[in-house]
Amino acid sequence: MTAEPALLTRWADAAASLTPAVRPVVSAPAAVLSTAGPAVDPADPAVVQLAVDLVATMRVSPGCVGLAAPQVGVGAQVFAVDVTGHPKARTTHGCFVLCNAHVTSASQWKAGREGCMSVPDFTGDVKRAGRLTVTGQLPGTGETIEIVTDAFEARALQHEIDHCDGLLFLDRVAGAHAIYPRQTYL
Ligand SMILES: [Zn+2]
Repeated sequence: MTAEPALLTRWADAAASLTPAVRPVVSAPAAVLSTAGPAVDPADPAVVQLAVDLVATMRVSPGCVGLAAPQVGVGAQVFAVDVTGHPKARTTHGCFVLCNAHVTSASQWKAGREGCMSVPDFTGDVKRAGRLTVTGQLPGTGETIEIVTDAFEARALQHEIDHCDGLLFLDRVAGAHAIYPRQTYL
């Protein structure tokens, strides 16, 4: 079924007794970032802990709109996304975590600038679908859900699914001309 925000937070009951921990973020060229992670059992307590830790780590990282398990050194098909309030976002589903997610429909491809906590020195122009349907499972409950979204949330989902498959945005750019040094805003 199509996800509503209330459905996406239903797994929180499974995580209520856990203490979220901020995990260190690994940078390229760490091998875990270029290795496809295995599918997980969403009900595995270690996966639920990973889910709450991904959210906690995303929360303390300024400007972070998504974080995937390989970025905290765990090869696994799990990621968190939250594009709430981002100026390029249209449809948003709040903060959510998906396991074993895959794209079922993609259209309206368009290039746009991306950055990544695991590639701290660069940004790049990457062609992504502006209309996207993703199916995945909630941690804890294992409930299968479908997310239909667009614009920046669609881009974030594609970026995080790529991480779970061992791909960085650098693997998606058209060439060296589409990579830029990251500007410092401080
Ligand atoms: Zn990334």
